[in-house]
Amino acid sequence: MFPDADYAGRLDRARAFMAERGADVMLLSVGADLPYFIGYEAMPLERLTMLVVPAEGDAALVVPRLEAPRVAPRGDAFTVLPWDETDDPVALVGRHSAAAVALIGEQTWARFLLELQREMPRTRFESAAPITRELRMRKDPDEIALLRAAGEATDRVVATLDGIAFAGRTERDLAAEVQRLTIAEGHDVASFAIVASGPNAASPHHEPTHRVIEEGDTVVIDFGGRWRGYCSDTTRTFVVGEPSAEVGAAHAVLATAQAAARAAVHPGVTCEDVDRAARDVIEDAGYGEYFIHRTGHGIGLEVHEHPYIVSGNTESLEQGMTFSIEPGIYLPGRFGMRIEDIVACAEDGVDELNRSPRALHSVV
Ligand code: ZN
Ligand code: ZN
Repeated sequence: MFPDADYAGRLDRARAFMAERGADVMLLSVGADLPYFIGYEAMPLERLTMLVVPAEGDAALVVPRLEAPRVAPRGDAFTVLPWDETDDPVALVGRHSAAAVALIGEQTWARFLLELQREMPRTRFESAAPITRELRMRKDPDEIALLRAAGEATDRVVATLDGIAFAGRTERDLAAEVQRLTIAEGHDVASFAIVASGPNAASPHHEPTHRVIEEGDTVVIDFGGRWRGYCSDTTRTFVVGEPSAEVGAAHAVLATAQAAARAAVHPGVTCEDVDRAARDVIEDAGYGEYFIHRTGHGIGLEVHEHPYIVSGNTESLEQGMTFSIEPGIYLPGRFGMRIEDIVACAEDGVDELNRSPRALHSVV
């Protein structure tokens, strides 16, 4: 699933960070770090898969023998060390990890870290996150191209949704349709589809139910998948028939807020300033208490990753960072709405990776 990339170059950049931090080895297991560094995703199972990256010397992937055939060779970026069912993989990692300081991937199962600590009693373990996050947060042009292709595919799904009937269908039925379309438009995986209608839309992460969508409902559809490993995530708000004056007015405020946050994106601007740009518009219109989450999250190999577009995050945007802008307004027991786009921070401002119309989508 993962594309060809400069995996050896990424490992070299990690080694440079390791040298700065005085780390001897980096140990990465499940999650998005392996796909980033070697284009392989470990199954999140009880059998240990671990990439051993020494500060000097070759990287090696310790992998169950039955999964080794899934490992695509990536030039000489790393070697493969398969282990058999009766082997002790933790001891195998230990033999290749003579280290005073080891950095451990933050999604590694606690069980394996505890076993490694017993296996390597003289090693100090620290988090690899400061390195993996610094590298993964700044996308190269090929990564942005994949995120753009994924975004364009979700825009095509939205265009198809504009032409289908919502009234009389259940949320679950419509969610299944959204996932089917996500695959039909080229994604490898349809990861999620939130369909939240009427009062259910006041819950931002609503799980689709058997509720039948009715005339007059607002319907929040938030969906995404994986495209050659990279994630999509977009939200549009639909209305069945004509919106009430209140819904129309609130959505106009939301659209202005979302546009303000997009316009704020520029290298050097802090993440919290982008959040503030959206929040100010919503607060000024009197809906501040109904915007109950951060404005956005980074996106890449994971659907939620750094940087987070949230109050208190004084990190500055840089060219190549990719993230969502997704303010919402949620009135408990009544209705909800959200507009979500994925954007990249480009040299001269925002690069929009979703472009489907952001106004309230009128459907039958
Ligand atoms: Zn979303
Ligand atoms: Zn999102």
